[in-house]
Amino acid sequence: MRTWLIILFSLGASLSLFSNNDIVRVGILHQREPIAVLFAPHTGSYEVIGDGKLLYTVKEKDAIQVTNTGGKLHLKSFNQDLGTVSKVFFKRTKWGSIFKVKPTRPNRYEHQYFDNLTITPKGTKLRLVNSVYIEHYVAGVIESEAGSSQNLEYYKVQAIICRTYALANKPRHRKEGFNVCDKVHCQVYHNRSRHNSDIQKAANGTKGIVVVDSDIDLITAAFFSNCGGQTVNSEDAWIYPLPYLKSVCDTFCTDMPHAAWVKDIPKEVWLNYLSKTYNFPVNDSLYVDCAIEHFPEMREKYFSYIDSTITTPKIRVDMKFRSAHFNLIDEGDTIKFIGNGFGHGIGLCQEGAMKMSTSGYTFSEILHYYYTSVHLIDLENIDFFRD
Ligand SMILES: [Zn+2]
Ligand SMILES: [Zn+2]
Repeated sequence: MRTWLIILFSLGASLSLFSNNDIVRVGILHQREPIAVLFAPHTGSYEVIGDGKLLYTVKEKDAIQVTNTGGKLHLKSFNQDLGTVSKVFFKRTKWGSIFKVKPTRPNRYEHQYFDNLTITPKGTKLRLVNSVYIEHYVAGVIESEAGSSQNLEYYKVQAIICRTYALANKPRHRKEGFNVCDKVHCQVYHNRSRHNSDIQKAANGTKGIVVVDSDIDLITAAFFSNCGGQTVNSEDAWIYPLPYLKSVCDTFCTDMPHAAWVKDIPKEVWLNYLSKTYNFPVNDSLYVDCAIEHFPEMREKYFSYIDSTITTPKIRVDMKFRSAHFNLIDEGDTIKFIGNGFGHGIGLCQEGAMKMSTSGYTFSEILHYYYTSVHLIDLENIDFFRD
């Protein structure tokens, strides 16, 4: 009984996180804001609401041109001038409507999104915010980030990670009037999902499920391409430890496409780098021997036994290596770097997860494999507890 009370209390204390979670406001065309766009329904019709007033209903085969003219929005349909407003809201008239938006100044390719769009001026340009049902957003992100050739179970893993990230980062762009942007800074979202129906199925099939830690807080659901056989403790690559981002051995990704890499670097360039960046004593042969041949058995945080300031994640960034997990071989004038994996190595290994999903593991088993001591929680059940 006491345990149940503690659980209920913990859930209750965390509920403020979970209100109003069905809609995400996404800043689209972020940092590439146009001066003018053409808005058109792809399916359904849209109400054109200017400064709170219904001005027009735009149907398929019609369109609205929105242009920033002197800090205001000038609206025009194919055959009607709708005047100038400070804010325009394109509101779908039925569930499942899709709109197209095409920048015309400068001229760029068209994007398609589900649900609603608000446009306001941003200096001399336009700020576009797509208010989208979260599962439509999740599917759009998965297709932008993971492509359209994976299997349903893997898409479920990505859906839960994407949803967890979006809800945990809702305040990220609050000052700009939306929750998340459409770039890699948040999560890439360049279109609705349209090339593989399994993606939307995965989002709908895991509706509301998120990953939380033992305090029922949404986790930082980090992921990367391939760990090369072992993931990394968060504190070994980032500055702070997180109890669910712990190193795990991964036998699933080691024959996947990004499991290995090789890079040759001239010995002089390598030693110059160590000398300039770390004051490494390149004239001392004992030290140099350690810097040109190195075969760690496991992933290492520090490059050398004799200098604990040189970290492998920093070398990875400085030398533009695919990963911070590598051996070195002295080949005379050249150092051969033989590396494992691709990416920062913290959290979920995507290629390992892909392999697990095609080997029959469920999304839940995969998430628990890469994230330590986490729980999958359905937001709807949390609301049930609250009521
Ligand atoms: Zn962002
Ligand atoms: Zn892996």
